[in-house]
Amino acid sequence: MEQPSVNIGMVGHVDHGKSTLTFALTGKKTDVHSEEVKRGISIKLGYADTPIYRCTDETGKEFYSNKKNSDNCQLSRVISIVDAPGHETLMATMLAGSAIMNGAILVIAANEECPQPQTREHLTALEIMGIKEIIVVQNKIDLVTRERAMESYKEIKDFLKGSIAENAPVIPVSAYHNTNIDVVFEAIEKIIKTPPFNDNDAPMMYIARSFDINKPGTKPSKLKGGVLGGALIRGKLTVGDEIEIAPGVQITKGNKTTWDNVTTKITSLMAGSSSYESILPGGLAAVGTELDPFLTKGDSFTGRIIGLKGNVPKTVFNMEMDIHLLNRVVGFDEEVNVEPLKSNEMIMLTVGTANTIGTVTSIKDKRVGVSLKYPVAASINDRMAIGRRISNRWRLIGYGSILT
Ligand code: GDP
Repeated sequence: MEQPSVNIGMVGHVDHGKSTLTFALTGKKTDVHSEEVKRGISIKLGYADTPIYRCTDETGKEFYSNKKNSDNCQLSRVISIVDAPGHETLMATMLAGSAIMNGAILVIAANEECPQPQTREHLTALEIMGIKEIIVVQNKIDLVTRERAMESYKEIKDFLKGSIAENAPVIPVSAYHNTNIDVVFEAIEKIIKTPPFNDNDAPMMYIARSFDINKPGTKPSKLKGGVLGGALIRGKLTVGDEIEIAPGVQITKGNKTTWDNVTTKITSLMAGSSSYESILPGGLAAVGTELDPFLTKGDSFTGRIIGLKGNVPKTVFNMEMDIHLLNRVVGFDEEVNVEPLKSNEMIMLTVGTANTIGTVTSIKDKRVGVSLKYPVAASINDRMAIGRRISNRWRLIGYGSILT
């Protein structure tokens, strides 16, 4: 199959039908990892892809489908759906996941009052991460009366007012009964554009997962190198490319600790279950390397960045940010105001697919200094989400961009 060319986030409150809609669109179930709930801030995104065909029926009317039902269907493109868990502990995952989304579908169930806490939280996250191409699905319309459907529609429109999704279409759907799925495909085709590809862009890939794919007991001579899974954001990667990973690995000599970037060579590229010589942005890919698999096992490389050798962002330990705090904490039923940051306070920062903890070292108006527990690879002006621990969970309280 052709590689997907666009990543679409599936977001919304838990149980509103994200997985069911993903299944209706792709015919596949995204993986649900039970560990992910335990691990809290690791990023394990569900993922499924599907072709979209542009077809014409007997009357000459155009429609979109994931099946090539007749000769009157042409492949439009392949899309990938990234399923962000709706459980509230996984806000960090959703934020990290949004780094690789080109657009999003916000699922809102018609049988519950809108907004539910994670509906608001996810819309705010999309806003913060600058994801503008949004489709709203009003799901579970089979469960409600006509009156409730109208009322729910009004609640949704009121909720979206003044937000980044104010003009997004609101499509009534029953994901469970496959009703109006063709309208969702049409909206995807019209609204969520494939980002333009520039061959000259230096490649940059966000690592979301890393693995040791060898079975226990494999002979050293048969060991396969470490595998890095994630999303290529720009440029092209090809088997044989010399790559660099930042931040690399922590090296302690005596009482001195440094972080050294790692360089290696790409030995294989996979997307879905196919192998490729080269990959372009879109979908999730797995990069085979010559790295010692011991280094990459158990998602140890999550949050790092791959570039060509000599062309990766700097590893940052301390930084100054220009910050914007939200007025109220999102993700709660009740209204909770966001208190200003305090010196020495611990905050969570999501930069690309990296989640890291930092300590506030200085505050001067909106200019805030932070010292990171684990470094991230980042550039000036990079956007990041800021979280604070409230009632034992990380809550989204604002965003910042790197000044120095
Ligand atoms: P998620 O947590 O957002 O991924 O929600 P799921 O897709 O797991 O859906 C939660 C529950 O709602 C499941 O039992 C689904 O079968 C059900 N569900 C999802 N969409 C619909 C729908 O359109 N109609 C009805 N009746 N049930 C639905």
